[in-house]
Amino acid sequence: MMCRVCDSTRLEPALDLGLQPWCNHFLKPDEVGKEPTYPLRLVYCHDCSTTQLDYTVKKEVMFGDHTYLSGVTKSLSSHFRGVADEIDRRLPARSRPKTVLDIGSNDGTQLKHFQALGYDVLGVESSKTTAKIAMDAGVPTVNAFFNLDTARQIGRKFDAINAAGVFFHLEELHSVTDAIRECLEPDGLFCVQFLYMKRIVENLAFDQIYHEHLLYYNLANIEVLLNRHGLAMYDCHLAPIHGGSIIGFVGHKGAKEPSDRLRQMRQAEATAKSNDLATYHEFARRVARMKDENVAYLAGRKAAGKRIFGMGAPVKGNTMLNYFGVGKQYLDCLVEKNTLRKGLYSPGMHLPVLIEDELPSPPDVYYVLAWNFKNEILANNKPLLDRGVEFFFPVDPDKVAA
Ligand SMILES: [Zn+2]
Repeated sequence: MMCRVCDSTRLEPALDLGLQPWCNHFLKPDEVGKEPTYPLRLVYCHDCSTTQLDYTVKKEVMFGDHTYLSGVTKSLSSHFRGVADEIDRRLPARSRPKTVLDIGSNDGTQLKHFQALGYDVLGVESSKTTAKIAMDAGVPTVNAFFNLDTARQIGRKFDAINAAGVFFHLEELHSVTDAIRECLEPDGLFCVQFLYMKRIVENLAFDQIYHEHLLYYNLANIEVLLNRHGLAMYDCHLAPIHGGSIIGFVGHKGAKEPSDRLRQMRQAEATAKSNDLATYHEFARRVARMKDENVAYLAGRKAAGKRIFGMGAPVKGNTMLNYFGVGKQYLDCLVEKNTLRKGLYSPGMHLPVLIEDELPSPPDVYYVLAWNFKNEILANNKPLLDRGVEFFFPVDPDKVAA
């Protein structure tokens, strides 16, 4: 295998999470137990320091019909509004409506915030069902995978391009990055958002590692990728979204000097040795310890006669449940708001998904898989907390914000 970013063959195993099913496909009753499994293994590149999966589940398997809707949770919606406002502030004035392209535009939630600012918008979304939801809501959307071919079909340039959480999904990484450069106006702004690997490691949020996420970036390595394709980051900041994401601002190479903030964050990576293999080996040891601690906690509660439900059925929750081996022996079910997953079962552990509003009674303990929405969950469940229902967060996102 070659490094997906720099083509080096000097790759070394960093973390092995075993064989896991594709975690975004919740199972219909007749699919339970028939789901194929694939290696879920992180390798480290000695040349560009990018960590990445060494096995690719085909994108047609992964993105045909995903059921994650970005409009569902409140904290994401306010994040999307913030991103639209920030991009708009940074763009130079135009004598015509400004234009924006959103890659992986999902149900159009992000683009609606741009429409509210008067933008001419276009989304590209690979899931047919989700693209239709966006179009029905009045958000122009191309149902395709974004790459050079798609860019040429679109055939125009944009003042802003946004890519939230897709830049690590991409099998055609180089075609996509070229396509972004092709579609970007000379003074345009590409806003890239990605899970920050430095935070994943510091916070033990290993559940963010799953087959859809082929790549795990720090600044040092995403900059290798961007530079390779004539693009350069000139500013960025860390946002609490998904437990710690970089919002990076990128232009054509040479268009802008790097900000002081970007220089400081690069320095912080170097000081913390975030791009060293030894840091990943230590990460793997801590993840193994976390498994022992979580299983001991759940076994203790179960032995005390408590009913335990999983809260949320996020994709990442499956990485955690499957690696920990936490299934029906501890959890009765997973409780979700997204009704698209109603009646389905979690891949691997086969826990049934129930809808929050339809629960006959709450459990004694919620094991919170959707930990990145901690504040929203605690605020929404105040009555349960007051009645003594326990909420256990395997990962604490507040540490990320620190
Ligand atoms: Zn590399």
